[in-house]
Amino acid sequence: MSMEPTMVKVRVPAKVNLGLAVGPVVSGYHQIATVFQAVGLYDELVAELAEPGVCELLGDLPDGVTVGEDNLAIRAARLLMARFEPTSGVRLRLRKRIPVAGGMAGGSADAAAALLACSVLWDLDTDPDDLLMYGAQLGSDVPFALMGGAALGTDRGNRLAPALSRGHYHWVLVFGAEGGLSTPEVYRRFDELNPTPASPSVPTDLLEALTSGDPHAVAEQLFNDLQPAAISLQPKLGETLEAGRAAGALAGIVSGSGPTTAFLAASESAALDVARQLKAEGHQVVRVQAPVAGAKIIG
Ligand code: ATP
Repeated sequence: MSMEPTMVKVRVPAKVNLGLAVGPVVSGYHQIATVFQAVGLYDELVAELAEPGVCELLGDLPDGVTVGEDNLAIRAARLLMARFEPTSGVRLRLRKRIPVAGGMAGGSADAAAALLACSVLWDLDTDPDDLLMYGAQLGSDVPFALMGGAALGTDRGNRLAPALSRGHYHWVLVFGAEGGLSTPEVYRRFDELNPTPASPSVPTDLLEALTSGDPHAVAEQLFNDLQPAAISLQPKLGETLEAGRAAGALAGIVSGSGPTTAFLAASESAALDVARQLKAEGHQVVRVQAPVAGAKIIG
């Protein structure tokens, strides 16, 4: 007889895009080709059994996120509820550390966490591929939050193939000081700046650099087609990128649609130095290692 847990705790990582190529719009969505890397900055989600039919989210959430039906964690739990009709409900509690509207796919991470937590809590007949499929229905970054590690993402970023990756990478993340950036707005600015984008592909040089395990090689290949659009909406990001390089980072990029910026350091001690310097200049920084595993049960 299997004992079902009454509570499941999941932690789920944020991502950076080591390379992000953006192409034309097909069927309403921009085609992208990207290399995702999961970084050690986590949201935590606790799912507890509740009375039948209940699906709610509690938690002291940061500005810009509500506990209502549009929260991606609730939408994920509701999707499984509709599909499997479990005999119990669920009460979710969310602890957010991934910046909101920061270009690190925090909302997608929470959807991934809710899919994993609820499937275990309700003892659903789902395998990892099923969860990837439900994840893709919720948002194009959700499958990667389940998968973790490093992966090549194509189409809308939802078609994933694991990327060979060697070594540990040390990042210093700088959170945006001027509030979040709306992803659709950044894409609109991208369209204005790039009226006829080419079909997107990830350079093999970046993939090769990642297999070398050498942060210097990876640093040379970092790129983000959305960066000029993000900087045009928040010009201070250009200065932040300069500050990170001046502080000793090998390279810096805007993460996804921004405004988080990510600085790759040559080693852990180099990352400490970069973080210390940027902090002294008044930036909000956090140091993380990568790659890390995707959504994972921790209790
Ligand atoms: P991406 O990099 O995937 O484009 P992002 O990291 O820039 O996304 P998110 O933090 O994922 O941005 O959130 C974008 C918007 O989604 C927020 O403004 C918020 O209103 C909404 N949202 C819904 N659910 C969540 C959630 N659980 N956490 C954060 N935002 C959420």
